[in-house]
Amino acid sequence: MTITRKGFLKALGFGILASQAPHSWAAAEKLEKSGAGKLRIKDVEIYAFDIPLTEPFRVSLGVISAANDVLVRIVTDEGLVGLGEASPFAPITGDTQDTDLIMARSIREMIKGKDPLAVDALLTEIGHIVHSSPSIVAAFDMALMDILGKVAGLPLFRLLGGDKATFETDITTGMDTPEKMAAGAGGHAARGYKNIKMKVGLDPDLDAERVQAVREAIGKDVRLRIDANQGWTVPQAIYALRKMERFNVQFVEQPVVAWDIAGLKAVRNESPIPVCADEALFLPQDAMKLIKAEACDYFNIKLMKAGGMTNSVRIAHIADAANIRCMVGCMMETRLGLTAGAHVVASQRNIVFADLDAYTIHTVDPIVGGMMVSPSGEIVLPELPGLGVDVDPAFLKKLKRI
Ligand code: MG
Repeated sequence: MTITRKGFLKALGFGILASQAPHSWAAAEKLEKSGAGKLRIKDVEIYAFDIPLTEPFRVSLGVISAANDVLVRIVTDEGLVGLGEASPFAPITGDTQDTDLIMARSIREMIKGKDPLAVDALLTEIGHIVHSSPSIVAAFDMALMDILGKVAGLPLFRLLGGDKATFETDITTGMDTPEKMAAGAGGHAARGYKNIKMKVGLDPDLDAERVQAVREAIGKDVRLRIDANQGWTVPQAIYALRKMERFNVQFVEQPVVAWDIAGLKAVRNESPIPVCADEALFLPQDAMKLIKAEACDYFNIKLMKAGGMTNSVRIAHIADAANIRCMVGCMMETRLGLTAGAHVVASQRNIVFADLDAYTIHTVDPIVGGMMVSPSGEIVLPELPGLGVDVDPAFLKKLKRI
């Protein structure tokens, strides 16, 4: 004899409860019938792909000329597909496309035949063998979450309890001469962007000139955030930030080297501009360390550092308990990885800044669906189950399976 949920509740004497909530139990029964808990990972397709940038993107750590990424497609025995992307940037994440491909093969063998909805258990298992390749873990996490959302029939940001399907992203101007940066940022402001980010972190005096030139080009009403990418010493950072105070900078990302938490705190104590931890923050445990040290005002969460959406949400929760507001940033993801980041933003009320602009400097957009972005940086998430995103079949066809 098969016992339904309603029958089970009636048998326990919860007849009223069973009759008052027929819709939710019917949905639960439907989910059971759909195979939740019985789904299995049948295969994992792994692809490497490269997308040249429209022009080299310069930060204090080096120059980036292409997105060298990894695509993961997790396929279930019932034909559901979850998509994920790794976009490693070795100077920050420590992994590369090549090392991610090696790790992806190991992860594939580990998760084949397992329940894709057991995201927490799978991530724990993956964590046992992968310690320093956060980007590829992010790709698997994203793909598993995509399947979870598809089975639940909800966009991931709604499944995670969020409701802000629309929000603004900033757009970033790479490091260059003050004149060229002013022209680039001024163009973005003219198109309607309300939030501009710019790269600094080489020479404090020249950096101050860069900030002055950009502020003059974008006008006083556009919010301006700066990112030093670890480029300054502690005294340089304090000197530069004091010099920049009059240009109304919203916050500075990672002024000093990532491992120097005491240095970050010293800058925060002396800086007239709020400090945002970026490279110092990978995992939830880093969030705890930064909070205990009172080292920063904001967190910049990135899926490629945290190892995916799940840890990003965990960091946001930890931050919320410490009254810290967050940004979600990106590496060089296509709109696939960026859409996953956007779902995280849309799901958490203390994530109030977004820096999800990498696709704007890609020569190719191989993604269909996903987050849509207006010319002035307003992101809209699709009301579709999971990530709500797919890879253009013509693009996928050209890729070689690993
Ligand atoms: Mg940064």
